Amino acid sequence: MTRLVFTHATVIDGDGSTLTEAHVVVDADRIAAVGTGPVSTRPDDRIIDLHGRTVMPGMVNCHFHATYHNLGAAPAPFGLEEPAALQAVRAVNSLELLVNSGFTSAVSAGAPFAIDASIKVAIERGLIVGPRLVPCSRDVSTTGHAGDRSYPPHWQVGALGAIRPSDGPDEFRRSVRAEIKEGAEIIKMFVTGGHGTIGPKEQLEMSREEMAAGIEAAHLRGAKVRGHIANREAILMALDLRMDIIDHADGMDDECIERIVETGTPVVPSMMFPARFSQAMGDSALGFTDSMKADIDAMADVLPKANAAGMRLVLGDDYGAMFFPHGPYAEELAYYSEEVGIPTMDVIRWATKHGAELMGRGDELGTVTAGKLADLLVVDGNPLADIAVLQDRANLLGILKGGHLVKDCLPDHHSPTL
Ligand SMILES: [Zn+2]
Repeated sequence: MTRLVFTHATVIDGDGSTLTEAHVVVDADRIAAVGTGPVSTRPDDRIIDLHGRTVMPGMVNCHFHATYHNLGAAPAPFGLEEPAALQAVRAVNSLELLVNSGFTSAVSAGAPFAIDASIKVAIERGLIVGPRLVPCSRDVSTTGHAGDRSYPPHWQVGALGAIRPSDGPDEFRRSVRAEIKEGAEIIKMFVTGGHGTIGPKEQLEMSREEMAAGIEAAHLRGAKVRGHIANREAILMALDLRMDIIDHADGMDDECIERIVETGTPVVPSMMFPARFSQAMGDSALGFTDSMKADIDAMADVLPKANAAGMRLVLGDDYGAMFFPHGPYAEELAYYSEEVGIPTMDVIRWATKHGAELMGRGDELGTVTAGKLADLLVVDGNPLADIAVLQDRANLLGILKGGHLVKDCLPDHHSPTL
């Protein structure tokens, strides 16, 4: 089989190191070699002289709603705004856009109708183009939680859209098991209001017993649990009960940082949706955006400290929600680097190594390392010098997923010798 041999590359490895004038050899689905110095080639190798362009790991979006769509109309039963088939088509489009934006993996944060599970199969069978997808469940939470209040009770909506209402530990167990049966590999729990929901952030949406039962049921079947969490007490409770991923993490303080770092729990700060939403709404939202702005400021203060402490922070956000369309996924890197002040190299680590670790696949994805799967980007430019180069899809000359070129605009020279 023809190998791909990149020469004269700048390699950003995903874990804080760079190489210049380096080579990367891709053999079938794996990275066969990375290094500087002479590289031995074979007559049928495809040799690509990158003239200093960058090779980096494919990125991971760790909070993705493939079906989200800014309908702009409220109230609507959450996840029932459109028919399932139409939402599935939407998911196909947004996942194709995601992989073409340099994200070779996506970890879903929730979808209605078990759409994620079917889309994952379609991608793996080659029916459609998309990233490696970790399918998520409906939102598991209690009757009357913030999502469940998105429509009035007299509509008597009985269908399950994006929500699986559950009350009591037994129903939490049953809901988790049902979602796993439908293909979810991660269960989404709405633990608090806040962070863009209509519920107050202080409000705990479930009891400790309910959360414990749901997490235990998921772990017994090998599934992870992630939680929409926007206050300190809920963060600490989730850590006590071994929740796997903390979404949003508003209200994080020094004690939370210490315990999150100690447990290695990944955190998805997802600041861009509230930032863009409150910018777009201005002062028209009757105080709603004031509290959002306060949360954004608080997170911007605490995040550099959390990053310096070694927290496993990752990228991902609520693309498709109001005023936050699908598409500009790579803007997150510039946002955290330029607006929050996180070192660019660290943000790249969030996007790559940390994302792979969140997936539980840190040993085979997330860095440019010999032996790992070849999920790689070839970038015209150097993201360390200008992180914004990743935002223009034209700068992504090559996108490889498991050694397969999802996009091939590589500068080819087919030179037989070096
Ligand atoms: Zn979300």
